[in-house]
Amino acid sequence: MFKKILIANRGEIACRVAATARRMGVKTVAVYSDADTHAKHVSACDEAVHIGGSAPKDSYLRWERIIEAARATGAQAVHPGYGFLSENEEFARACANAGLAFIGPPPSAIQAMGLKAESKQLMEKAGVPLVPGYHGADQDPAMLQHEADRIGYPVLIKASAGGGGKGMRAVDQAADFAAALASCQREARNSFGSEAVLVEKYVQRPRHIEIQVFGDAHGNYVYLFERDCSVQRRHQKVLEEAPAPGMTPELRTQMGLAAVAAARAVNYVGAGTVEFIVEGLHGAGSTQGEAAPSGGSEPRAAGSVGARFYFMEMNTRLQVEHPVTEAITGLDLVEWQLRVASGEPLPMKQEDLHILGHAIEARICAENPDNNFLPVTGTLNVYRKPACASFERSTVRIDDGVREGDAISPYYDSMVAKLIVHGDTREQALARLDAALAQTRIVGLTTNVQFLRHVVASPSFANADLDTALIPREAAVLFGQDRLGLPFTVAAAVAQTLLAERARETADPFSRRDGWRSLGGAVRRFDFESQGQSLLAHLHYLHDGGLQLTVAGVSGALQFSVAADGIDVQFHGVRQTVQTWQQDEVVHVFCALGAAQIVELDALAHAGEAAADTGRLTAPMPGKVVSFAVKPGDVVKKGQALAVMEAMKMEHTIAAPVAGTVAELLYAPGDQVAEGAELLKLAAGA
Ligand code: ADP
Ligand code: ADP
Ligand code: MG
Repeated sequence: MFKKILIANRGEIACRVAATARRMGVKTVAVYSDADTHAKHVSACDEAVHIGGSAPKDSYLRWERIIEAARATGAQAVHPGYGFLSENEEFARACANAGLAFIGPPPSAIQAMGLKAESKQLMEKAGVPLVPGYHGADQDPAMLQHEADRIGYPVLIKASAGGGGKGMRAVDQAADFAAALASCQREARNSFGSEAVLVEKYVQRPRHIEIQVFGDAHGNYVYLFERDCSVQRRHQKVLEEAPAPGMTPELRTQMGLAAVAAARAVNYVGAGTVEFIVEGLHGAGSTQGEAAPSGGSEPRAAGSVGARFYFMEMNTRLQVEHPVTEAITGLDLVEWQLRVASGEPLPMKQEDLHILGHAIEARICAENPDNNFLPVTGTLNVYRKPACASFERSTVRIDDGVREGDAISPYYDSMVAKLIVHGDTREQALARLDAALAQTRIVGLTTNVQFLRHVVASPSFANADLDTALIPREAAVLFGQDRLGLPFTVAAAVAQTLLAERARETADPFSRRDGWRSLGGAVRRFDFESQGQSLLAHLHYLHDGGLQLTVAGVSGALQFSVAADGIDVQFHGVRQTVQTWQQDEVVHVFCALGAAQIVELDALAHAGEAAADTGRLTAPMPGKVVSFAVKPGDVVKKGQALAVMEAMKMEHTIAAPVAGTVAELLYAPGDQVAEGAELLKLAAGA
């Protein structure tokens, strides 16, 4: 076994590789860019080498620097992770030339599988089923159109060098072919440096099912079963699970053997994934409620009669979604990678491998699902994860490369974390996934966490009615959803404000701002903003001591109390334990039901804050001065009541933001004042 390896990657995959290496007693070297100087993966490794600027081309893609770093630190092998240099045969070759083991397949296998068209020709020879299509070298547009007509529409044009869901165009009819081809070639040239395309049948409502394979340097191969990655947006995976619902033992064996044949055809070594597109396999209801006791049970044969699978491509690296395979096999695939790369034979034989239960992975990304999944950048001001264990088979696992306070920068991809759950059945895994997503709390940037919860709860996903069109099909229940509802969100925000005030009062009795509250029948106004619209809420203090909240056309009793893990809030038929975070004017509300945010325009608080800097005391809103509680020359403590204003039928107490001496009163009781008018002058310092 290696004594030291270099991890030529960043983020969660670098951390994940480092964890296994550490467990195995293998030392690790991280590489990092300017933007990653303080990144989690740097501290996850024993040593770290700075390799350049933030842009990938200045750091994580500079393989000469990386090889230099490996040499300088005495690393014996390089793990490329996924993305970046992982499928770059030149890099794999350069490692070998530098005397470093590449923890991945031989360069020849990367090359053979690197181009979709060429790899399909190879697979055809190896007897692996292909989507009907044209994968030849002739790229004459008229000839490609002719092939498309022959295949029959709809067809898919794919950049042969493409990846990451880019460089694909579906074409519905012959008349659209030429334009789609030209646009696909343009994207292919710009993104992948090659215009070559292939044309194949566009399979309707297919499933993406892939097989994890492993080979060693001694000619042994196994398959570690399948993963269903049908839930996609923009041809990119969102949720992945294993085993595939509805899979039969027969089909699994056929696909497993086809994947092994694909790997064998290119003398594959290490971890790889053979991606298939599957037609006619129905998963709906097939694994619901089935126990999968240890020893492994196969899902009942359901709807696989007439299912056809076709080779799509082979990814010659560890896959993002490998943890679901680890969860159902109880294996550590990175450990297998290290063993195989150091020359050991595969640790297990096919007949020793079994499926245990069901696992699902959700990719938590910094993106806005309601804005066409556009990635977003920002800071993880709050990043709270569900209770979990890392890198071990357990019910909830989180793989991430960030910590609270870290930024999601524009330089790298937008994945924040992977949440992996395992259960005896799919149903149990689903319940665990929903609970774990509910406990995932991120403030500071927009994420897809709530969207993922909606997907998990959607009829199609819940019933395992999976195919690549699931997201568009379920759009009505996935986008623009707010399970908490505006009234409850406002109720939670009001409760947190009142509790925060109460806490301040307890700490400092003079800070009491709502002295008028003791007057039964008083009304307090709260100003919110929701989706750019202003929203008023009125809180009535009832004579019996209760609170009545009126907002967005609903009115009802507001009850709340402090709980061990948040605030119990009850309003308008909803009762939830909420956690809130306030960031500037935005109150983020999280609870088991869902999460929402609302802008709370607390004029009073902000007037106080502004005054704190300047010693000025201004009217928070237009209104009337009711009384002054002080006179010039009075020495006041911080928080002491200075004046009472009346506005919108409510009284507001203006408190001293700092200790000081009253210099001058600028109005008299009964005066009307404009918003922002300075009421009195306070000389700071007691
Ligand atoms: P997987 O099949 O393992 O889920 P993805 O397609 O999601 O892989 O890609 C994994 C990572 O690799 C992504 O973060 C993506 O940025 C990167 N990646 C994949 N293909 C390419 C490519 N052709 N060029 C650059 N990066 C890629
Ligand atoms: P990438 O290299 O970007 O991962 P793939 O060839 O693996 O490209 O395809 C990505 C996704 O596009 C698949 O998971 C599937 O959803 C869809 N897709 C690919 N080929 C076809 C096809 N022939 N018919 C329908 N959908 C397809
Ligand atoms: Mg793919």
